[in-house]
Amino acid sequence: MKVCVLAGDGIGPEIVAEAVRVLEALRTDGLKIELEPALLGGCAVDAAGSAYPEATQKLAREADAVLLGAVGGPQWDNNPRPLRPERGLLAIRKDLNLFANLRPAILYPELANASTLKPEVVSGLDILIVRELTGDIYFGEPRGVENREVDGRSQRVGWNTMIYSESEIRRIGKVAFEAARKRNRRVCSVDKMNVLETTQLWRDVMIELSKDYPDVELSHMLVDNAAMQLVKAPKQFDVMVTGNMFGDILSDEASMLTGSIGMLPSASLDASNKGLYEPSHGSAPDIAGKGVANPLATILSAAMMLRYSFGNEAAAQRVESAVKKVLALGLRTGDIWEEGCKRVGTREMGDAVLAAL
Ligand code: NAD
Repeated sequence: MKVCVLAGDGIGPEIVAEAVRVLEALRTDGLKIELEPALLGGCAVDAAGSAYPEATQKLAREADAVLLGAVGGPQWDNNPRPLRPERGLLAIRKDLNLFANLRPAILYPELANASTLKPEVVSGLDILIVRELTGDIYFGEPRGVENREVDGRSQRVGWNTMIYSESEIRRIGKVAFEAARKRNRRVCSVDKMNVLETTQLWRDVMIELSKDYPDVELSHMLVDNAAMQLVKAPKQFDVMVTGNMFGDILSDEASMLTGSIGMLPSASLDASNKGLYEPSHGSAPDIAGKGVANPLATILSAAMMLRYSFGNEAAAQRVESAVKKVLALGLRTGDIWEEGCKRVGTREMGDAVLAAL
């Protein structure tokens, strides 16, 4: 198994180093894994004049999976658009046709106080949001802003197109049903079928697809209610599947239920389960180079890689159990530290996960 490793910018190199150590440790258990480093983001702009250089493209295309830290930082904020670090991220997602974004929101009981919600509402939360990533109103044509005659006068009018084909809905639905089979076998499909024809089609296709998954329970929820239920009773959900725009909003809402951005992994997959795995947080320039960043989101992203791209559920669970054990021991980086716990740095946290493994 070939993994392209993109440390990126800011805290990226520090947190990715710990995830790499975890993957290397699993080699002693017979995991055959090759790790190939490459550049993406601001560091790539500086070294190669492109946020997604050709050498990186080649490695990423050849690899079975990509592990990414994060990109961006204030030193590139004034660069012209084509030379902005985020360009690299958008380019690699597009290049690898990563249409399925998986974002788990897990709140370990030990971190229940980190949430802004009452501990009893969120403690033990474990949901997975599956968001379609390459279609919907974000990419639909036609789109634009122009002057038109409205209400008897010329004024600016803006419009976008919400569009999904049956095959696009089916392939993201499959990802959700398959993921549910590895969890608690419940899928909640989120739409706005009472108002939008596109999402009526979405619901119809989900119902048709569910016939292939008789062992998974399918339910439906309108997006406005889903936004409400996520803060009212989030533990009712197992897997939620939705389109690009609704998923953009709901996955951010869900991740913030946990209150610990340094803990949340993510995966973006193509049709053959090749994936890009990265923490949900950014490059945290405010703490870069200080050795204090939380590496757990990146380590948990590596666990997702083992599960989804390599089909190695046992290894994935070993890594996740090691993280749980470290939390139970009371070790915390600054972002999740509370009274009575031991404050540790990035490397020490990595050491503890390795010891727990
Ligand atoms: P951020 O997620 O980098 O940081 C927000 C806050 O969370 C900061 O206070 C930071 O110190 C803290 N934080 C984040 N990750 C942490 C970790 N692992 N451990 C401890 N604390 C952590 O978001 P931002 O400040 O809005 O963005 C900073 C840069 O990151 C920007 O250049 C932005 O464009 C980029 N960014 C990149 C990605 C990505 O690569 N996928 C995503 C979001 C933002």
